[in-house]
Amino acid sequence: MEKETAKETVSKNFIEQIIEKDLAEGKYDEICTRFPPEPNGYLHIGHAKSILLNYGLAQKYHGKFNMRFDDTNPTKEKVEFVESIKKDIQWLGADWEDRLYFASNYFDQMYEAAVKLIKKGKAFVCDLTAEEIREYRGTLKEPGKESPYRNRSVEENLELFEKMKNGEFEDGSKVLRAKIDMASPNINMRDPVIYRVAHMTHHNTGDKWCIYPMYDFAHPIEDAIEGVTHSICTLEFEDHRPLYDWVVQELEYAHPPKQIEFAKLYLTNVVTGKRYIKKLVEDGIVDGWDDPRLVSIAALRRRGFTPESIQKFVELCGVSKANSSVDYAMLEYCIREDLKMKAPRMMAVLDPVKLVIDNYPEGEIEYLEVPNNMENPELGTRQVPFGRELYIEREDFMEVPIKKYKRLYPENEVRLMNAYFVTCTGLEKDEEGNVTVIHCTYDPASKGGNSPDGRKVKGTIHWVCAQEAVEAECRLYENIVDEEKGVYNKEDGSLNLNPNSLSVVKGCFVEPALGKAEAYDRFQFVRNGFFCADCHDSKPGAPVFNRIVSLKSSFKLK
Ligand code: ATP
Ligand code: MG
Repeated sequence: MEKETAKETVSKNFIEQIIEKDLAEGKYDEICTRFPPEPNGYLHIGHAKSILLNYGLAQKYHGKFNMRFDDTNPTKEKVEFVESIKKDIQWLGADWEDRLYFASNYFDQMYEAAVKLIKKGKAFVCDLTAEEIREYRGTLKEPGKESPYRNRSVEENLELFEKMKNGEFEDGSKVLRAKIDMASPNINMRDPVIYRVAHMTHHNTGDKWCIYPMYDFAHPIEDAIEGVTHSICTLEFEDHRPLYDWVVQELEYAHPPKQIEFAKLYLTNVVTGKRYIKKLVEDGIVDGWDDPRLVSIAALRRRGFTPESIQKFVELCGVSKANSSVDYAMLEYCIREDLKMKAPRMMAVLDPVKLVIDNYPEGEIEYLEVPNNMENPELGTRQVPFGRELYIEREDFMEVPIKKYKRLYPENEVRLMNAYFVTCTGLEKDEEGNVTVIHCTYDPASKGGNSPDGRKVKGTIHWVCAQEAVEAECRLYENIVDEEKGVYNKEDGSLNLNPNSLSVVKGCFVEPALGKAEAYDRFQFVRNGFFCADCHDSKPGAPVFNRIVSLKSSFKLK
């Protein structure tokens, strides 16, 4: 018992430890976390980590999880992204209940906060140009230089800031800066800009504002207004934490939130940068932001990943303070594990060749009862048609077998999965020597694929009934970038694309049940992998399947 408790403590991540300490010390009665995306693109697997981490913590400690669009920057934001982000978060299973917020709704409070700082002598209006501000800032080795406008009176600052708000100044001509310390070893503390003039229309507030707060000023205020207790962000904000703390302290919030940083999730051989994805979309290299080769959440969903597989993946990645990247194979492992028991196992032939059973009655179709998933009887059974003419995979037949080949070759007997034993009796070829038809005889006594007399067959192959089969398209994927060369071209920074990242296989034959597949239905195609009906292109009677992942893997969970 004691041992178990110890183990549990060890396995807690550092954020959980901070939260438990805060709760134990009575710092907060209830925790509140948030996910604060900027609506300037689609969410990707890295964001999923942040969402599930924040939501998971709120769940675990019976607190709240807020959804907040950090839409304080009017240049890049779009309503389209707001909708896609909400959809993706809901799909992942994170529930913000009735707490959907927009940072832009706090512009009045942020303005008031800035006025408060001015009144406290902690902020000033500065007329230096952006370039001058940069020059005055100093370097890591050298302290900065104070702005000549730093000692303006409170009255003058209040008047100028109001004029900034009223649109009396051009973009870039004036900014509001926090008055902190130009000699601070932390450059973020050297009188950072907290408000700028920008005559721009905002997607939510329209033309009401022509001044906009900077991220480092806005974010702690957003957190404080919402009662966020633990503001979890990624490592690059570590150096900004002193400024975060300065803002909440100077604004004298009764329950100041605290910022905690963790390492971003990086995946090997995938592209997450918005800039790169945008270019792939614009250049027509991928089929939109949800192309199944991408790792946006929309793309993972379209490819066939489940929310559960992504939850599992994020859990396995853990939470850390050190940047590292995770092998894409781990994500594949998670979806395989999730679908292994859930997905019905069906027969689909991707590279068909005809097999004719010469001693089977012509024109007759029988229905065989087949379990949907041998390992999970709960999924029940289905009726699969069988007849004289079938399709099998071309690779399941060899005219001249290689060593140890256990599948079909002349005079060899194999099992047709769930059906009968068949023995190859001959073949037909076209003028180029390609096998066009394989002839067999079957043993009616081996129905169900069971040996009638104890004789054994080494190979089992899958098949579909030619007369009843539905023609399908299957899309097979490889990494979008060339694994060997690395993701980015060292010379010009472009992506090293893998020319084989998509193979469209037309003319596949699948069981009739698969002809009725609906968008996002997932299956195991025996021996070929896990597949998902494409949400854009799959139609009843003309299904299109995306391969989520093959069945085999070299990945091992440590
Ligand atoms: P990107 O630069 O990849 O487009 P971003 O950081 O600009 O992402 P935001 O909308 O600002 O995107 O991020 C929202 C939240 O998601 C932030 O809290 C951010 O720290 C977190 N986040 C972004 N990328 C990752 C990642 N790779 N791993 C974990 N969390 C991430
Ligand atoms: Mg960002």
